[in-house]
Amino acid sequence: MTKKQQPPVDGLCEECGFNYDTGELQGTVTLLIRQGAECAMALTKAAAGPDPDVVRLRPEPEVWSAIEYACHVRDVLEVQRLRIAQCLAEERPVYAPMDRTGRVKEAKYEDQNPIEVAAALTRFAREFGAAARVLTPPQLGRLGLYNYPVRAPRTLGWIIRHTAHEIQHHRQDILTILAKVEPPIIPAPKPSEPAAEDADTASAPLS
Ligand SMILES: [Zn+2]
Repeated sequence: MTKKQQPPVDGLCEECGFNYDTGELQGTVTLLIRQGAECAMALTKAAAGPDPDVVRLRPEPEVWSAIEYACHVRDVLEVQRLRIAQCLAEERPVYAPMDRTGRVKEAKYEDQNPIEVAAALTRFAREFGAAARVLTPPQLGRLGLYNYPVRAPRTLGWIIRHTAHEIQHHRQDILTILAKVEPPIIPAPKPSEPAAEDADTASAPLS
């Protein structure tokens, strides 16, 4: 089996559509918080479905399960928030690697409670967002030595974008995996409702 390629850390990610070169800080942070909540909701919904254990199924031996991805996203959000604090406190900080693959086994990702993981993920996304939102342009330009995927100096601004990319990328992973492993729910489709917006704009104004 060919191993999945690592997503890029600049420019456009063809897989999830994230672009490091576009979007301003506030919009990026808002999107990150929303997508964190979407990861949490997908996990909660699957865990409440006909077979709660689908969250622990790996679609392929080398591909993480939904709970493993969700735990990873939760931990990324926490680690990155601490890195923001470290970068503001130190001149040229050297960030400790988070050991993304080691944690899967050490922290027993696959045994964790999906409801607790979802709650922590949502909270950490908000906390990361709160720490990122208030950064000034000079602070966003501060540099630290970052280890992933290669050791390189990175600005805080890049760390914010890279975190947003992690969440967007893994949100897609989680949804894709769940779509593969979830049993079909009967009865089928409920119509999606973009119509609600139309109804609002179409309604006559109150006079
Ligand atoms: Zn991506």
